[in-house]
Amino acid sequence: MFCIKCGRPAKIGNFCDACFLDSEELFAIKDFSMEYCDICGINQNMIKEQIIGSLKTKNNISNTKVSIKLVGNKAHATVTCSGSIKGLPKTETKNVMVIIRKKMCAMHVKLSGGYYEAVIQIRGRDKDNILKYATRLLPKKSISSIEKLKEGYNIKVLHKANAAAAVRGFRKRYEVKDSYKLAASKKGEMLYRNYYAIR
Ligand SMILES: [Zn+2]
Ligand SMILES: [Zn+2]
Repeated sequence: MFCIKCGRPAKIGNFCDACFLDSEELFAIKDFSMEYCDICGINQNMIKEQIIGSLKTKNNISNTKVSIKLVGNKAHATVTCSGSIKGLPKTETKNVMVIIRKKMCAMHVKLSGGYYEAVIQIRGRDKDNILKYATRLLPKKSISSIEKLKEGYNIKVLHKANAAAAVRGFRKRYEVKDSYKLAASKKGEMLYRNYYAIR
């Protein structure tokens, strides 16, 4: 048996090793689009991860390299994979285009709509220090807003867990009072809001 393409001895079906590898695809990839939140930001590694995640293959891939050139809202990527098909090593390079669309993430949609699950009420003589310390303890993204009042500050916090964790740092040195109120969200869902009064 000889290879139907080149005439050398056939090894796999009607092909020699080289012509067999030529006829087989190591991996497949298609153009796609991805969404990202403008406020959270995006970097090339996030695009690379999505590209690697979209690779399709039935073969063994041992190494993948992705390089990206950003042009406007498009990422032009070159993907090189090394691996093997039926035990024969092959390296293949393909181009793919990723369209990057802006879409606010769920968390920032909530933040921009004024959503919050907890309020840290800062009062008393030491209020400015407490505020400084609290904003350091809270992840930046978790703060919905900070209100300045005559008697102190109210920090509205997106997630209860972040508020609870931050307040924990005050319990030894300050007086902390916990309470909650039932409130309706804008969409009409009932929500228990946690309140922490620190003084
Ligand atoms: Zn051949
Ligand atoms: Zn975001």
